Amino acid sequence: MKASDRSEIIENIIQMYGTGKSELVYETPFQLLISVILSAQTTDKQVNKITPPFFLKVREPKDIRDFSVEEIQEYFKYVNYFRNKSRFIKETGTILAEKHNGIIPNDLKLMMTFPGVGIKTGKVVLSVLYDMPYVWVDTHIHRIMNRIGIVKTKTPDETDKKIDILFTDEMKVRMHHPLVLFGRYTCIARKPKCETCPLQKKCAYFQTHFGKKLVSNS
Ligand code: SF4
Repeated sequence: MKASDRSEIIENIIQMYGTGKSELVYETPFQLLISVILSAQTTDKQVNKITPPFFLKVREPKDIRDFSVEEIQEYFKYVNYFRNKSRFIKETGTILAEKHNGIIPNDLKLMMTFPGVGIKTGKVVLSVLYDMPYVWVDTHIHRIMNRIGIVKTKTPDETDKKIDILFTDEMKVRMHHPLVLFGRYTCIARKPKCETCPLQKKCAYFQTHFGKKLVSNS
């Protein structure tokens, strides 16, 4: 696919899903980090439902000192893996408060040394907080990129590497969240909403499955 077509497709997706950065609800950087840790294997909607009472009491990493792991677990007992996630929140909050002045460092490698912060959490938090050029390629972004025909890859890891080469940093900063929403609401895994999708003309999946039908109907 030509570079100009790739850019046009991504610009269309950005137009469709705006410039928002996350569907998670938070007020401070530490609250964002907590929400992203909680969102592993859980929907953003579920995370947003359970965080408000905790966020009334915990705004900054130093606030975590007032809570034991068991107390944190009580707030989060309705998300998957809440025991581990609560421990990660306690330990990472403590490290941030004691060693980083309560500030989340803008350094992916350093972030990934914190308990519960893997590459996904690190990339999402840094791209939202500091506009760093990270696209976290999950199964949804992997699916979209292959369906449209921007990449031909077998795994999210391979797609991740391709995206790194194919797009400018400026575009990577803007494309992550719109792509997530596009996969969540339009190019859905089981039944993509192709009939109303503005990318039909440039999409390989659409052309393969519906292109001929359109020509014969015209
Ligand atoms: S036309 Fe269908 S498959 Fe192609 S991007 Fe749109 S929703 Fe996804």
